[in-house]
Amino acid sequence: MGAGALARSDVVPYIARWTSEECPPTVVVANGRGIGYARETPYDRDADGVLWKRIGWSPGKGRPVFGQVHFLRQRRAMRRMLCQVCGGPADRNEDGVLWLVGEGPDEREASAAELTTTHPPVCVPCAVTAVRSCPHLRKRYVALRVGLVTVAGVRGELYRPGGLFPEAYDADGVAWDDWRVRWILAAQLVVELHHFTVVDLEDLAEGCAAA
Ligand SMILES: [Zn+2]
Repeated sequence: MGAGALARSDVVPYIARWTSEECPPTVVVANGRGIGYARETPYDRDADGVLWKRIGWSPGKGRPVFGQVHFLRQRRAMRRMLCQVCGGPADRNEDGVLWLVGEGPDEREASAAELTTTHPPVCVPCAVTAVRSCPHLRKRYVALRVGLVTVAGVRGELYRPGGLFPEAYDADGVAWDDWRVRWILAAQLVVELHHFTVVDLEDLAEGCAAA
């Protein structure tokens, strides 16, 4: 599901990019072990030392770009278990954190077979609103309670040593323990979902109405 897939037309998802949030021109250089920026700041890498794409941070300014994910809000939502739609805390109970995962053919990365996803969790009101306002979502998405979430890696642009500068040659996902993680310009955090149970969205909706 894209950043706009769960949205009503009047709600802009927390993880969506706005037109004012542009990627500044950057120079990617080789640093011996992998890639870096010519002028790097402490904010350019995450706690694990992975280099991230630079992007402005001004949500609400300009127009939302539905279907485009803001790299750093996506990462924040994953790290802090925030709802991808409203940005508040994702729903959590004794069975785990609430997730909507896609079943469609274009949602292979979130399919039950692989159980890795780039889509952050959701809260109950946003999940219920999403499926109520868009009935076909009920067929396309399965709600899960996820007992354990681990960071699997990142998706982004892969670089390799070039002439003067490293050159981008592919877009892919790379695991933390893969040596290429030093050669990727990360744009999304990938997590793995474990210990999950399928939840009935109708039950969720009823609980929401009763509350
Ligand atoms: Zn929400």
